[in-house]
Amino acid sequence: MAVWHAPGRINLIGEHTDYNDGFVLPMALPMGCTTSVEDADDGWSVVSAQASGTVTVAPSGLADREQVPEWATYVLGALWLLHDDGVDVPPLLISVDSDVPTGAGLSSSAALVCSVVCALDEHLGLGLDPSGLLSLSRRVENDAVGAPTGGMDQLVSLRGEVGHALFCDMRDLTSEAVPFEPAANGLTLLVVDTRAPHRLVDGEYAARRRGCEEAARLLGVRALRDVTDADEAVSRLDDEELQRYVRHVVTEDARVLAAVEVLRAGRIDALGPLFTASHASMRDDFRITVPDVDTAAETLLAAGALGSRMTGGGFGGCVIGLVPSDGVNAAGEAVRRAFADAGHGEPALFTAEAAAGARAVTGL
Ligand code: ADP
Ligand code: MG
Repeated sequence: MAVWHAPGRINLIGEHTDYNDGFVLPMALPMGCTTSVEDADDGWSVVSAQASGTVTVAPSGLADREQVPEWATYVLGALWLLHDDGVDVPPLLISVDSDVPTGAGLSSSAALVCSVVCALDEHLGLGLDPSGLLSLSRRVENDAVGAPTGGMDQLVSLRGEVGHALFCDMRDLTSEAVPFEPAANGLTLLVVDTRAPHRLVDGEYAARRRGCEEAARLLGVRALRDVTDADEAVSRLDDEELQRYVRHVVTEDARVLAAVEVLRAGRIDALGPLFTASHASMRDDFRITVPDVDTAAETLLAAGALGSRMTGGGFGGCVIGLVPSDGVNAAGEAVRRAFADAGHGEPALFTAEAAAGARAVTGL
């Protein structure tokens, strides 16, 4: 039997930059998914502590993915892909248990997929190297589930480090751990899960992605990551919407690079204004925030946060604030009150420190 744990994640800064070949700065969360893989008598069975029933299928390839409930495709996807790659996968029982809330933008899906892939790698003796683990995990979400994720979630779930954020270049998928220890500076990363119902997410995501690709084509670059001067690029575009998209992506890439610089220099407090500028860019230029997340971001600032921003793809999800540690409770209270006053649903609040990426669990 092999047992692995892989974490969810929070992106500190760098939103919608991943599919533009740009930069992101996520960190792994203490919450995660634990997966065990063991031999079975017959077929492939998966069971989740967060879903009802055991799903059992006969060994086969991706073509069979329509036959199972969606959650099980996140687990069986790796087996189907290995089967299609010519690996002789024996009968198995795979059991998963996660404390990452689903659909909150904390990447419960990457925690699930990466813990499954790592446990399979060990149990089947696949001997995958870091890029092989990343590639299989991405293919599970992209090809088996059909979710167009850019790879950041899996990268940080696999490679996150305690006390560090992970600076990722999404063009070549290289990563570098950068120190991120707010507590050592009297600061706390406060997370507000707005629990706002996600609306229109898939359609809006697709529209942003198409718009960015169109802008890159018009500007004659491979991807918006290759634009360095936002104003100059914007002046060459006629379409107001594309101008806004370019301004967001190009300035957001610059903010990620600036964030990495301040963290390397030990000036974590200088992250605050970068967070706040990123939020304004997502609200005014990329237009992916909703009233609940704007309320959370503004209230955190008013309550003394050095900076705040929505994290994740948008239209709901979580907001993060860099808050003086002695003001965390007051800031949390202020957010709860502001949500009640505005008629938003009740948010969930928690603090987060950067945790380790995927690891084997021993001693069970
Ligand atoms: P996010 O990754 O932001 O949480 P996604 O929509 O990408 O949101 O992934 C959420 C989906 O992942 C759930 O709807 C479910 O299908 C699957 N999932 C995640 N964790 C589990 C789990 N512990 N058990 C079963 N399915 C899970
Ligand atoms: Mg996900």
